[in-house]
Amino acid sequence: MLMGNDDAAMIKMKWGHLGKILHIDLSAGNSRVEEYDADFALKYIGGRGFGAKIVMDNLKKGIKPLDPENVIVIAPGVLSGLYLPSSGKTAFVPISPLTGIYADSNMGGMLGVEIRQAGYDALVICGRAKEFSYIWIDDDIVEIRDASKYRGKKSTETERELKEDLRDEGIKVATIGPAGENLVKFACVNSEWSRNAGRTGMGAIFGSKNIKAIAVRGTKDLPVYDMNKLVELSDKAYKTLQDHPMMKFWQEEGLMSVIDYANKLGIIPTRNFSDAHFEDADMINGEVMTSRYKIGDSACYSCPMACGNICLVKSGAYAGTVTEGPEYESAAMLGSNVGINNFSAILRGNYLCDELGIDTITSGSMIATIIDGYERGLLTLEDVDGIALSWGDDSSIMHLLEKIASRDGIGDVLAGGPYGVIRKFPQLEPIISHVKGMDQSAYDARVGVTMALAYATSDIGAHHARAWPIAKELEVGADWTLEEKVDLVIYHQTIRPLFDMLGVCRLPWIELGFDENAYAEFYSAATGVRVTLDDLLEKSRSVFNLTRAINLYMGVERADDYPPERTFNDPIKTGPHVGEHLDRDLFDHMLNIYYERRGWDENGRPSDEQLRECGALGLFKSQLD
Ligand code: SF4
Repeated sequence: MLMGNDDAAMIKMKWGHLGKILHIDLSAGNSRVEEYDADFALKYIGGRGFGAKIVMDNLKKGIKPLDPENVIVIAPGVLSGLYLPSSGKTAFVPISPLTGIYADSNMGGMLGVEIRQAGYDALVICGRAKEFSYIWIDDDIVEIRDASKYRGKKSTETERELKEDLRDEGIKVATIGPAGENLVKFACVNSEWSRNAGRTGMGAIFGSKNIKAIAVRGTKDLPVYDMNKLVELSDKAYKTLQDHPMMKFWQEEGLMSVIDYANKLGIIPTRNFSDAHFEDADMINGEVMTSRYKIGDSACYSCPMACGNICLVKSGAYAGTVTEGPEYESAAMLGSNVGINNFSAILRGNYLCDELGIDTITSGSMIATIIDGYERGLLTLEDVDGIALSWGDDSSIMHLLEKIASRDGIGDVLAGGPYGVIRKFPQLEPIISHVKGMDQSAYDARVGVTMALAYATSDIGAHHARAWPIAKELEVGADWTLEEKVDLVIYHQTIRPLFDMLGVCRLPWIELGFDENAYAEFYSAATGVRVTLDDLLEKSRSVFNLTRAINLYMGVERADDYPPERTFNDPIKTGPHVGEHLDRDLFDHMLNIYYERRGWDENGRPSDEQLRECGALGLFKSQLD
């Protein structure tokens, strides 16, 4: 990173960065503002980087995710809220209730922009409120207020009532539904109807802290070092995106276009990952959505791509359901993975997940697991509360979503996520696809070794957003060496988290091939610190070492860096990759290469120099030596 003479001083003058972190101690019932220095800003950039460092600094031996001491950091990035495309992203970062290790989850919409406009680069929430509460942030005023009237309410209802009660439609609200209150381990935090911090159980953290919501009003300007330059860069970026030949298609279908793509490639999750090809994909794809259900678009802050699809079910059992979404992951996990070919039912499932406050991916995964278990005779009718489960039975599946949120009967077991289900029904372990306690996202990992490696080595578990190398791998086929494939995974694991540190969406880069070098220019114009993309990637690599150190501290070891067991021993039954599965020796070899290219030892431990550089050496030495 190139620093001019006055660069450090510029950070202190808060160009780009606001320089303030708001700490809220719910147990003590107070708050304070911390001013951070240039070194912190330059090293951790913002968003996920800030969150990881703060979570690490607050780790204590034996800490449990739902302990009051487990902090949750809510951090927009240094570019969040600026005049730039798709710059409304915010990271939620705690130790996860789902996995028990480091986690972050990303929310779009406007929440992070409002937090920045209130004057903060991050919120750090610790402790547990004595009474059921919500947090009200009105620029410099911070209050912990009674939330008893919102107890048990669904997400959109809570947001609407809070806005009415605070007499301001313009405030931004992040809230949990009933599932978060009931500590469902994959409960999410919802904002603006359908923007979610969805994965890894952020809603359960809110619930454990006895808070229903955060409401924010921010009225301040965001400081930019060179506004003329930023506007010039931004205008150019908007034009590039708007002129892209795929832009119109993207705005129409958004991520729903991936259904056909994944089915054609033979990587779509089907009936609990038993198959990777869904015979009825053309009944749940983007074309079905746009021609029969879509009534409007929605977008996060400043995003020309507007990938949100507002849909209405016009007839049938779910008539009147209006929801934003689903996108590919939700449609696949609540569709093909549970055998549903009825798009109305997928919309209803998506709606229920948003309202109840549960993650669509884990919900679909857990329900698919017990249907599979029941169909294989591993579970009895009594085990599943007398519900005669079968693939595609949408009414039972809707019922199960409600049972998860209320922790009723079998729903209480599913609410524990993969580890909870395995504890209660160990016989299901071979058919649960998870890594480190997080269920696998909606891409089969038996086809491409890079996807298996990406899931296995992701710092938050088997989540596609950390790295999605499979398309590239299938494109280049056998032409690449193993080293090149490993490098591809590492590059994804480096650049994708960088977007979370900057507070921008990764989709312009992924879907429209937007030049990633532009983000270094954006950063330089915003902060006055001249950087290249490589400088920023170096910071992202360092944060990945930091999150690795946290995970080692929490007990992760080499044996946890493997894809789901069935990836090795359960061949794909249908589709273009029939009979394929992953070779264990090949994967072992790849993992060795991966560790070596990361500069880690054979057990996946970063070097002392890497740990010192990311600020984690003290933690590592005191706890692991
Ligand atoms: Fe939000 Fe979609 Fe735009 Fe990304 S592409 S910022 S998810 S609307």
